[in-house]
Amino acid sequence: METRSPTDRTRVRRLPDRGAYDRETIFAILDTGFVCHVGIVESGSPVVIPTAYARVGDDIVLHGSSKSRLMTVLGGGAPACVTVTHVDGFVMARSAFHHSINYRSVVIFGRGEAITEERAKNEALHAFMERLHPGRWDAVRPPNPQELKATAVVRIPIEEASAKLRTGGPLDDPEDMTLDVWAGVVPVVLAREAPIRHVPEHA
Ligand SMILES: Cc1cc2nc3c(=O)[nH]c(=O)nc-3n(C[C@H](O)[C@H](O)[C@H](O)COP(=O)(O)OP(=O)(O)OC[C@H]3O[C@@H](n4cnc5c(N)ncnc54)[C@H](O)[C@@H]3O)c2cc1C
Repeated sequence: METRSPTDRTRVRRLPDRGAYDRETIFAILDTGFVCHVGIVESGSPVVIPTAYARVGDDIVLHGSSKSRLMTVLGGGAPACVTVTHVDGFVMARSAFHHSINYRSVVIFGRGEAITEERAKNEALHAFMERLHPGRWDAVRPPNPQELKATAVVRIPIEEASAKLRTGGPLDDPEDMTLDVWAGVVPVVLAREAPIRHVPEHA
């Protein structure tokens, strides 16, 4: 496993034992998700936008309308902060204070860069679809030149990044251990359910 040192911005200060900086941990968290939150500052005002992403090698790639503010700002090289979060469980303690959440999350600091070359753009869009449904790209009509033009793709390098993970049960105070109250973890999962076929009205 490659060890990476945190930077001044990525060093986890609050509960540092939960922090990790190696690519293996960070990539595993990123590869489990498909929605991130991207923070940018525009005209002096911070804004955080949720959007889909995929990891392509050492980059996070995002896509959107060529007219989108987020894509325009990031494509112009703006600094951004991207987060990805998975909730794994609700941690029920014996006191209100010690309730918690089990999670895996990543924070990435980096600058956006527009991907304009057609092959690289297609590769990024392919990665998106593979993330949602493996094999789907080969089954559907590929984007035509107009659609490609209407779609902006940006990359953000996963260089300055941290992961933070909480696992396990509640950390109750010793004097609370004998309280007559249920304590433990309620696991939380995000699940795919049975697909619902779309039938055209005049089929
Ligand atoms: C689902 C979920 C629920 C949470 N709920 C709470 C809550 O209710 N209250 C609360 O105080 N905290 C909560 N946290 C933890 C929270 O994300 C922060 O870690 C914590 O609040 C400390 O923030 P800070 O800015 O003081 O951290 P610092 O340790 O000062 O942050 C320094 C650097 O550490 C890294 N870092 C910090 N947090 C994370 C993270 N979560 N993932 C990856 N890198 C990180 C970043 O690079 C950051 O710039 C929750 C986390 C998750 C994922």
